[in-house]
Amino acid sequence: MAAADWIDPSMTGVVWTRTSREPQIDRPPLDSDAQADLVIVGAGYTGLAAAIRAAAAGLRVIVVEAGIAGAGASGRNGGYAVPHFPGALRPSAVEKLLGPRKGQALNALVSTGPDRVAELVRRYAIDSDFAQRGWVQPAHSQAALAKVRAVHDDWRAFGVKVDWLDAGAVAAETGAAGYLAGWRNASGAVVNPLAHARGLARAAESEGARIVECTRVTGMAQEGPGRVIVTCTGPGGVHRLQAGKVLIATNAYTDALMPGLPRSVVTVRLYHIATTPLPELLRRRILPNGNCFTDLRKSGGFGRYDTAGRLISGGAVFAASNVRAYGEAHARRRMAELFPQLRGQQIGIEDYWEGYCALTDSYLPHVQRLQPDVFAVLGFSTRGVALTQTIGQAMGDMLAGKGRLDDIPLEVVDGLRRIPFQPLKTAVGRQIFPLYQMKDRLGLS
Ligand SMILES: Cc1cc2nc3c(=O)[nH]c(=O)nc-3n(C[C@H](O)[C@H](O)[C@H](O)COP(=O)(O)OP(=O)(O)OC[C@H]3O[C@@H](n4cnc5c(N)ncnc54)[C@H](O)[C@@H]3O)c2cc1C
Repeated sequence: MAAADWIDPSMTGVVWTRTSREPQIDRPPLDSDAQADLVIVGAGYTGLAAAIRAAAAGLRVIVVEAGIAGAGASGRNGGYAVPHFPGALRPSAVEKLLGPRKGQALNALVSTGPDRVAELVRRYAIDSDFAQRGWVQPAHSQAALAKVRAVHDDWRAFGVKVDWLDAGAVAAETGAAGYLAGWRNASGAVVNPLAHARGLARAAESEGARIVECTRVTGMAQEGPGRVIVTCTGPGGVHRLQAGKVLIATNAYTDALMPGLPRSVVTVRLYHIATTPLPELLRRRILPNGNCFTDLRKSGGFGRYDTAGRLISGGAVFAASNVRAYGEAHARRRMAELFPQLRGQQIGIEDYWEGYCALTDSYLPHVQRLQPDVFAVLGFSTRGVALTQTIGQAMGDMLAGKGRLDDIPLEVVDGLRRIPFQPLKTAVGRQIFPLYQMKDRLGLS
């Protein structure tokens, strides 16, 4: 199934729908032609953060969303706002990839990402259970220990306040078993991701942006300078938006709205589960400080609670005969391995849901200038919660004439940035989860 077919406005199974204090607001689909300075495709964190800034700068902004705000990865992720890159990607490697100017700017943006999310939460009074209690990257194997140490040292050299934790300190922070050591950045945070998306949508509207839901962009054409015609289809019929500029913020859910665009990212299908709330006694022994962690296991080693004390776990979806049963069994094994305290306890699984992530070859997002006034920013991988919002804001500023494209701290290409062998890589991604689990078991990750 293509990612775009999976846009599910009902958000079936997603625990965050039950726990979000930001209310669901139904927004009507597009029902007539209209004009805007900026049309944004996709109401996830990227599109909404861009809309907030561009509308605040005075642009007439219309956000077009195929489902509802947050229906993509933004409303269904794990809610870890992490001040680090994916896996063991180091700030020094990012500088090499992007050059010193952009590399250092991106390092600064990533290391302060959760703080910048906190600013949005405060400014727009977003009720998304945002809690900044720190994030830990522990090492589950000797191979991981070397990588984790190098990442810690790199961040420290870059001037970021990070703490090295020995095995005992990791165990005290996380309550998890088997870690050799790790590092912590106290600015890491957790959030109710769907509530946050809803809050950003409300904030964008408060700045004057218009959001239309259940309306899919099916095509666009630049007809002249500052004149892009965007075709939209939905229950309100087929309508045309005349836009000065367009930002495509569809990430892994990118469909055929622009020929070839889906080939610019590899999509990965992930699942998450939420347990029944853990009893108070267990909560004092597992993640006692309410912080969160992510290790380097390829098959997912991470932990956080929601506000009711449910543990959130997950991994990649494997194309098994019963996808959900396979995922739940994996999550149970992983939780028992991480938290021996759970063994023998009656802990059920209440929720199971899936979502799509978009990867690039570098594991960093990129900007594609598809037409003179049409931009796409895609590829936020599994570290999108904070970065989408900081990059989205920067894109909104740039599109409002308050910054230069060259100042966006990402690779910027003219035209499409196709990933070599993208269909093959996407297909392999659907089958590779058992191999990842084996690598983890053998201590190779
Ligand atoms: C299960 C899961 C867990 C994750 N956990 C974490 C985590 O803990 N921490 C972290 O940092 N990152 C995490 N991520 C990644 C993170 O969620 C994403 O990187 C981020 O949400 C991407 O935001 P976005 O706004 O770019 O895209 P999305 O939120 O995916 O939004 C794209 C939107 O575009 C819309 N759309 C697509 N095509 C069209 C069209 N033609 N017309 C109109 N609308 C369209 C979609 O409906 C969707 O709403 C996770 C992802 C998944 C799937």
